Formats: sequence, C-alpha cells, structure tokens
Amino acid sequence: MIICNRLLLDILTFRNRKVNAMALWPFIIFKDKDTSADPFILNHEKIHHRQQLELLLIPYYLWYFIEYWTGMLYYRNHDKAYRNISFEKEAYANQNNLDYLKKRPFLNSVKWL
Ligand SMILES: [Zn+2]
Repeated sequence: MIICNRLLLDILTFRNRKVNAMALWPFIIFKDKDTSADPFILNHEKIHHRQQLELLLIPYYLWYFIEYWTGMLYYRNHDKAYRNISFEKEAYANQNNLDYLKKRPFLNSVKWL
C-alpha cells in the first residue's frame, strides 16, 4: 500500500530530508507523488518488503538496526553505516533491475552480509 506524505516520512526518519521513501510492510511511504512514480525507487522499496516478509518483520527491523549501529560505531558516519547495511546493499545493487524480484532466491540478503 502506497502512502505519499512528507510529514509522516519526516516523523519516521527524524527529519532526515535525504530520505525519499521508506518500506514498512505493508506500507511504502514516499515523500511525494513524483517520487512514488519512480520505478527504481519503488523497486528498491519492494525489495525491502520481500526482505521484511522473509524475516517475519520484527527480526528484519532488529537486524537492520544492529547492522546500522554496528556500522555507526565502525564508520562514525551515517551515510556509510546506512549504505553498508546488507539489506540496503542488496536493494541498491538491484533496484534498477525491475525483474529482480521475479528471480530472487529466498533469503538472498545473506549474500550481502
Ligand atoms: Zn533502502
């Protein structure tokens, strides 16, 4: 289910204005309608939905934040910590392949650890 709401995204990201969209299954929250029309951003968020469902949601979020905070301790830089989360590495590497989810093996995120 797609939601376009800048205020909601601001609240969920603590006003991180670099964030264009966020996947919180079953929702994908975009900052605006133009962004929601971008097929690659939509594909990126759908990859996160698949990852979330595979890990039954809560373990996904726990693992996501463990990787993020481990990265923050290591890099001391938000962008580097974020881009080194395995779920983000998989989503960024494959967001431009709009057929990726049709062929993606189960739990493929493990490859990106
Ligand atoms: Zn992402």
